[in-house]
Amino acid sequence: MGESKTVHSPLLTYVSMLALLTLCPPFVILLWYTMVHADGSVAITAEYLKQHGLEGLKTIWPKPSLIAWKIIACFAAFEAILQLALPGQRVEGPISPAGNRPVYKANGLQAYAVTLITYFALWWFGIFNPAIVYDHLGEIFSALIIGSFIFCIFLYIKGHVVPSSSDSGSSGNILIDFYWGMELYPRIGKSFDIKVFTNCRFGMMSWAVLALTYSIKQYEENGHISDSMLVNTALMLIYVTKFFLWEAGYWNTMDIAHDRAGFYICWGCLVWVPSIYTSPGLYLVNHPVHLGTPLALLILFAGILCIYINYDCDRQRQQFRKTNGKSLIWGKVPSKITATYYTTSGEKKSSLLLTSGWWGLARHFHYVPEILAAFFWTSPALFSHCLPYFYVVFLTILLFDRAKRDDDRCRNKYQKFWKLYCDKVPYRVIPGIY
Ligand code: NDP
Repeated sequence: MGESKTVHSPLLTYVSMLALLTLCPPFVILLWYTMVHADGSVAITAEYLKQHGLEGLKTIWPKPSLIAWKIIACFAAFEAILQLALPGQRVEGPISPAGNRPVYKANGLQAYAVTLITYFALWWFGIFNPAIVYDHLGEIFSALIIGSFIFCIFLYIKGHVVPSSSDSGSSGNILIDFYWGMELYPRIGKSFDIKVFTNCRFGMMSWAVLALTYSIKQYEENGHISDSMLVNTALMLIYVTKFFLWEAGYWNTMDIAHDRAGFYICWGCLVWVPSIYTSPGLYLVNHPVHLGTPLALLILFAGILCIYINYDCDRQRQQFRKTNGKSLIWGKVPSKITATYYTTSGEKKSSLLLTSGWWGLARHFHYVPEILAAFFWTSPALFSHCLPYFYVVFLTILLFDRAKRDDDRCRNKYQKFWKLYCDKVPYRVIPGIY
């Protein structure tokens, strides 16, 4: 492959890779500890660490218990079976850099519905109480940290020994190969797609399952669910529902079509998504803020609007590409650029770039409603603690970095045509500002 993906300077790339590999696991544990045992207060945790140092971190780090492993194993096996067994339309992914076209079974929405109904029914009929998941959450995160690390080693070895397609290869550097991954489309057998499992069926699914878990835990503790928790859970569930409605579209995005299966994407989806993305809901379990109906409805409406706009941006781009630029955009014939490029095998291809609608406002405008939606589902926590807003801050950094990575990649791919797009649509994310 030879593509080392060092869009930043090599030194910065190495430092950030090592920092993320070593700092993310303790961060996950500290965030959980602060939310559940330190009243959501960073100051309390900081004081504890100041007094007890690394020994203190070791003391609060939960050991992965048998029940934690069982919960993870049941959930993972259930999702893997649904991914393989549920019916779904045959969908083709985009042509890969090596000229392959992956084929998927689009059954995400069915899997999502079956998962939520099953989880809710297990609680309703007294078979399994989701509050148990909350009570063992530290052990579950701890087990996920270790299990996912081992899984990434498996991906690294598989990429070397039995890659699933020609979209695989080594950069010649073991750290980059482990961190960024070896294979673009790793599979087990012909049809079990590993990235669909890690990113969608485990990562995104766990987000919805944990959102429900936090609501149920609060209900079990207090006998009712606060309006802040209701707004948070509703918005997160609407967001994840939107994701599964559009899952086949997700298979055309950077995560799947460009980022290889390594620590960055897979560990991120297996550990970071369940622990960090869901954290505003985790905070609310012990902080049942009362918003009052007008404020609750206002936040709910603003959040839904942002989720809708984000959805519409993705839909507009995909509809435009699917119809070869023939669909109307905001009631008008779209303005576009036909951009030619070469695959790694030297084949000449072309893509259409939309330069009107949402994609004419800024080259990555869709990140704005994504960040705002996250702000709105966090804001029911109000502003007495900053930690619930960690996800919003993290997402903002992630997406601005992603906008740069994507711009750099597209500039390499489309050359003068990308420059033409930049001349026509000069702002990267926020119209008129950046
Ligand atoms: P996409 O991959 O969907 O869009 C970028 C790609 O689209 C480019 O790589 C390029 O690919 C193509 N493209 C770029 N400009 C145009 C254009 N003008 N017209 C047509 N095609 C174009 O972006 P993301 O994967 O970043 O985002 C997808 C969704 O996921 C968004 O809703 C985003 O908010 C969300 N997201 C959420 C994250 C989270 O952690 N919550 C993280 C990342 C994304 P090509 O090579 O095909 O030309």
